[in-house]
Amino acid sequence: MKIFVIGAGVSSLAFCSFLDKNDITVLESNQFSGRKLLATGNGRCNFTNINMDYKNFYSNEKDFVNYSLDSFSNKDLLEYFEYLGIEWINFPSGRCYPKTQSSKTVRDSLLMKAEENAKFIYNIKVVDIDFKKKLIITDKKSFKYDILVIASGGLSLKNSGSDGSILKILKKHTKLIDQTFGITNFKTENPLSKTAKGCKVFAKASLFVDDKFQKSSTDDIIFQSYGLTGTAILDLSNIISLALKDKRKIRLDIDFYPEYKKKGLFDILEKKAQRFPKRAIKNLLIGNIDQKLIIDILKRAKINEDSVKISKNDLEKLVKILKKFSFNIVDIHDKNNAQVTLGGVACDRIYKNSMKSKDMADTYFIGEIMDVAGDCGGYNIQWAFSSAKAASDDIRRLNV
Ligand SMILES: Cc1cc2nc3c(=O)[nH]c(=O)nc-3n(C[C@H](O)[C@H](O)[C@H](O)COP(=O)(O)OP(=O)(O)OC[C@H]3O[C@@H](n4cnc5c(N)ncnc54)[C@H](O)[C@@H]3O)c2cc1C
Repeated sequence: MKIFVIGAGVSSLAFCSFLDKNDITVLESNQFSGRKLLATGNGRCNFTNINMDYKNFYSNEKDFVNYSLDSFSNKDLLEYFEYLGIEWINFPSGRCYPKTQSSKTVRDSLLMKAEENAKFIYNIKVVDIDFKKKLIITDKKSFKYDILVIASGGLSLKNSGSDGSILKILKKHTKLIDQTFGITNFKTENPLSKTAKGCKVFAKASLFVDDKFQKSSTDDIIFQSYGLTGTAILDLSNIISLALKDKRKIRLDIDFYPEYKKKGLFDILEKKAQRFPKRAIKNLLIGNIDQKLIIDILKRAKINEDSVKISKNDLEKLVKILKKFSFNIVDIHDKNNAQVTLGGVACDRIYKNSMKSKDMADTYFIGEIMDVAGDCGGYNIQWAFSSAKAASDDIRRLNV
């Protein structure tokens, strides 16, 4: 049985590493495999997370991911890495990385195992697929397949090879969910002044869609001239992108002092003002807020930055802003560097236990090509492995 895989990203490498004793050929348009994998986790590869929940995944088809995540869980992936000989570590956030903190370690170990089972052809681009004749047409030659596994990724980081060319072909044959970009940064209304540009704070970001609370994240937030980025924003970004796609109203409230209630923060600032009665408020706040942010915060609170005698009313206004510094999010800022695609092949057209297409014979989907996206934190690589395992198990069953 001739199995062809389109793409040599992480889902393809996982698939080939799982399925031995088969005739597998991988077709990849790049010169080498795992190009995007090498860029993951800032070159360190955050490959899964100790804290795994179905809620970390987004798809129009409810519960679609559950079976494959249960069958090949984060624990299974950690064990598989141990089997491959990749030592790993985890951070307090639950994020897991190879001990070497190098994504090349993961790519190379996985590729060596995959090459035991599959032949890789590079610099070859699939330009069409004849699903009836079971023929893959490339820019070089055509290939006849018995089983086709589509692992061509979504639209994120196009220059890594996932350029959407296969999605264009699939449009004529199966249902697609409109795509947008997740795990990315956002444009806001009224971004801050140039002084605040690049300023990073550790704070709590709470997300509201149509004024309804969705989720919060306490981590780094970075203020940019266009709007907001940072780990806390990336954590919330899939929900934000989906809400933007639906043209909904999105507000993000930043709490610079989540560890205090308003009263506690008021007392701290009031005591400080009494201790240093001659200081202008812009100087008084040094030590409480990053200096680059002070003027913007005072402006929002409508307090004169040079005022020395600070009234109770001013302090109350200041505390209110420090506990709730709001931004309306209006667009995705950087589509080219987004980390994941939301949307893709509709999951109601795929069997959830096997990743097999309901529309095209003997065709499987694995990884990001499907309408499944994970949160920031190792969930997308976990999905690449879990979906690849489900497909490889099904194909193994066919063979026996
Ligand atoms: C900068 C960045 C950082 C990330 N960091 C993390 C992280 O730390 N943790 C995490 O879990 N996720 C991370 N992700 C997301 C994760 O990398 C992807 O979800 C995952 O790589 C998807 O794997 P895939 O195999 O489905 O697709 P891809 O890795 O995109 O592979 C698809 C392959 O198919 C090939 N291809 C496409 N079309 C054709 C064609 N027509 N002919 C031949 N070949 C074709 C492409 O060249 C590509 O090599 C990150 C993403 C980015 C962009």
